[in-house]
Amino acid sequence: MEKLGFERRQRVVLVPFPFQGHITPMLQLGSIFHSKGFSITIAQTKFNSPNPSNYPEFTFLPLSDNLDNYDTSFCNMLNVISFVNTNCEGPFEDYMVQMLGEEDVQGEVACIVYDPIMNFVNVVANKLNLPTIVLKTTPATYMQSQVVMFQLLEEKLIPLPESQLQVSIPQIHPLRFKDLPLPATDKIPQDVLDFTQSYMDIKSSSAIIWNTANTLDHYPLQQLQQHFRVPIFPIGPFHKLAPNLTTSLMEEDNGCLSWLDKQAPNSVIYVSFGSLAIIDENALLEIARGLAKSEQPFLWVVRPSLLNGSNAMDFLPEDFKERTRERGCIVKWVPQRKVLAHPAVGGFFSHCGWNSTLESICEGVPLICMPFFTDQMVIARYMNYVWKVGVELENVLESGIEKGIRTLMVSEEGKVMRKRAFEMKLELEQCINGGGSSYESLDQLVEFIVSLAGRK
Ligand code: UDP
Repeated sequence: MEKLGFERRQRVVLVPFPFQGHITPMLQLGSIFHSKGFSITIAQTKFNSPNPSNYPEFTFLPLSDNLDNYDTSFCNMLNVISFVNTNCEGPFEDYMVQMLGEEDVQGEVACIVYDPIMNFVNVVANKLNLPTIVLKTTPATYMQSQVVMFQLLEEKLIPLPESQLQVSIPQIHPLRFKDLPLPATDKIPQDVLDFTQSYMDIKSSSAIIWNTANTLDHYPLQQLQQHFRVPIFPIGPFHKLAPNLTTSLMEEDNGCLSWLDKQAPNSVIYVSFGSLAIIDENALLEIARGLAKSEQPFLWVVRPSLLNGSNAMDFLPEDFKERTRERGCIVKWVPQRKVLAHPAVGGFFSHCGWNSTLESICEGVPLICMPFFTDQMVIARYMNYVWKVGVELENVLESGIEKGIRTLMVSEEGKVMRKRAFEMKLELEQCINGGGSSYESLDQLVEFIVSLAGRK
């Protein structure tokens, strides 16, 4: 994004939740604000900290989190969240007090933008009388499904029998009970409900920034506007506004790009389940067999933590590696945005994380959807049923995976999806270009932040 020819005298402080899918959009937002002339400070836990030398335009405040030797796997996430919130509040308050004391030199603190998982920010901001804005890194449809899920819980419609899972929920059609972000057939544990409620609550924040676009989320955004009654700014997709920013926390294997160079256009299925999802040994083998049987070239991200407890690479059978040596490339972590933009990539077998989904449709790449949890269930349904750019897997056995890959990569149905994905790419480009909805919303957001600074 082109940088303004002047610096404002205002600083925006950003506080991401320290996991890849949350850090990425916050860094991108920092870059977008910087291009609009704001000074940017990022308060970042020591755990999973991006390398500050990649971001000379930002000031980093390292927050002591005491997470060394703590179990930070997805299974322990609620404890990680509570630990981070307890440990970071003090250091964050100290930094903010110091920053406010130095406003004459450093510029005025206009507001704090934070991930709503980082609750402590709101406590500190209230104490210091600083305005806050919440950043939503998931789609608005997901938030809407959470609101309805709590209504259903209140009406005692959840838990429900398995036989109801395929039934659609009238308030959020076309979502079915099986697409709800938490399993509708089980009693949901109280700590999960408490966390979800807190995540949905914007507390005293003055506005919400959303990494989405009107063309994707128009109706839920309208509904949520009535629910929250503060300005909502859908200014995404962020990565298109900060295209050159490095955001990976893991080292990227660029060798896969040379491998892609040797493949035919639209021939490769790219396979990745993001940074957090965990599968078991059986699922790993089903995916491997499905890829082998599909006979399509593939690029598969097998990150070391994909398999619970052991290095996934060690579990891939030798005969699978042998059989697919000529047409398969397996790596630990890729430069995903470059991979999706490569002409050889014709489909993405994905967990439907929101960043991955946006990155895929912005390159016109249709998907095979294998959601694992929370927003991914909702996104997968939208990809398949509403936007018609995603294949819903019949099952996650080798037969379903082989069929899904063939449907997307070689069938007429797949061709139609690719065409539709290309149309979506164009629609999203229109949103961020001059006069588009995200473009206008960003202009309004900048004015809004400037007005927050002036009000103090
Ligand atoms: N990603 C990457 N290289 C990989 C796999 C993923 O750079 O090999 C990035 C991807 O581009 C995306 C992020 O990791 O920006 C994953 O975020 P997402 O919301 O899709 O899923 P999560 O990891 O939060 O489940």
